Amino acid sequence: MQMLSEDLPDPANTISINSAYKDSLGLPGIKMHYRLSDYSRAVLPQMMEDYVNWVQVTNGKPRTLPGAWSSEHHLMGTTIMGTDPKDSVVDPDLRCHDHGNMFLVTTGVMPTSSCVNPTLTGMALAIRAGRTIAAEV
Ligand SMILES: Cc1cc2nc3c(=O)[nH]c(=O)nc-3n(C[C@H](O)[C@H](O)[C@H](O)COP(=O)(O)OP(=O)(O)OC[C@H]3O[C@@H](n4cnc5c(N)ncnc54)[C@H](O)[C@@H]3O)c2cc1C
Repeated sequence: MQMLSEDLPDPANTISINSAYKDSLGLPGIKMHYRLSDYSRAVLPQMMEDYVNWVQVTNGKPRTLPGAWSSEHHLMGTTIMGTDPKDSVVDPDLRCHDHGNMFLVTTGVMPTSSCVNPTLTGMALAIRAGRTIAAEV
């Protein structure tokens, strides 16, 4: 059994360029600053309660769980979608606020980390961006 929680947008969480590191093409690496929010931390006790309830209704015997966080590998955020250029990179059609002829078709536009796999949502957003582009070409 696995329990997943959502991470809300947090201006303190950032990705920046790490010029001290270069990959084999000479491109700089990234520096990631991430903190677990109070919102996310508050989910853990609720998850434990839900777990115990679930085990009991299925006639199981609850065990003590380690209660540790682990990360999923779903890529989301950094070029987030929003209506205000002050706190987002693209609009709901994935058009860059700063460059009207540039669209970012990526799950990077998702402002929160969904609990579930993001790729189908990314594809739906890509279709929406494609319709917008086709209408303007
Ligand atoms: C191990 C793993 C398992 C996953 N499992 C699932 C799953 O089961 N279901 C699900 O929905 N999601 C899953 N995901 C998440 C999903 O793969 C990503 O959310 C999705 O691929 C993001 O799509 P994207 O197009 O935004 O980015 P990407 O798929 O990362 O595409 C970015 C592309 O840009 C290219 N690129 C980068 N830099 C440059 C450059 N400078 N010039 C030109 N090209 C460049 C890269 O080579 C890459 O092809 C998984 C991710 C990982 C890592």
